[in-house]
Amino acid sequence: MRFFVSVDCEGLACVVGAPGGTLTDSRNYAFACQQAVRETNAAVRALFDAGAERVIVSDSHGGGVNLDYEQLGERVEIALGAGFGRRYPGVDERFDGVLFIGYHAMDNTPDAVLAHSYSSRAYQWIEVNGVQMGEVEIDAAIAGEMGVPVIFVSSDDKCVAEAKRFLPWVETVVTKQGFGWNAALSKHPKRVEGEIYEAVTRAVARLPEMRPFRVDSPVTVRLHYKRMEDAERQARSDTRWRRVDAYTTEAVFERLSDWL
Ligand SMILES: [Zn+2]
Repeated sequence: MRFFVSVDCEGLACVVGAPGGTLTDSRNYAFACQQAVRETNAAVRALFDAGAERVIVSDSHGGGVNLDYEQLGERVEIALGAGFGRRYPGVDERFDGVLFIGYHAMDNTPDAVLAHSYSSRAYQWIEVNGVQMGEVEIDAAIAGEMGVPVIFVSSDDKCVAEAKRFLPWVETVVTKQGFGWNAALSKHPKRVEGEIYEAVTRAVARLPEMRPFRVDSPVTVRLHYKRMEDAERQARSDTRWRRVDAYTTEAVFERLSDWL
């Protein structure tokens, strides 16, 4: 069995960032990097204990250089950095599942911690074929193009509810209750490790029930920008995108992976 574990930072236990900046700029960031390793290692242990032969851990937050790599379980391979030109380096149709650690709710989700979709600065929200989607759904759909299901998501309560709405088969762990952009009531960070181990173990046992998440092709993507000039710039600099209104651009792709 082969698995890909994509690790973001916003949805980890005891992570909220700080007002007025990004998580990466906040005092909370150093803790987030340590907690990312703890939550990832719990998932990785469960995967290898369940018989995995190959596990790729992707350092997915920001520029892709967040984790203390020597603290990761030694059997993993590590995808780090940015600019791969594809969403899942090393993954093909033979992979059995993708896991999302520390993911966050989509844009336009009230009281979700650090909720955004790819850019917290640029977008109000993103629509795929007329439905608002965020990183969980879009990343799941890109794995779905290869026939690979998302089998596990850990995040705050808002993102977990969102994941279950789109991916009803998925195993989940709620790390914290979101009260706002920078506010959470969190489980103890060490308690979450045990819960992740148990939930990932269940996910692997339930592999036959897991389904690739697919969106219809051709796929229409609408970007609702926060600022008019960003929509203007995109429509004028990239001919694939047309202007729908002052704040919105739209493009049609064969597959979502042609966009991201
Ligand atoms: Zn992130």
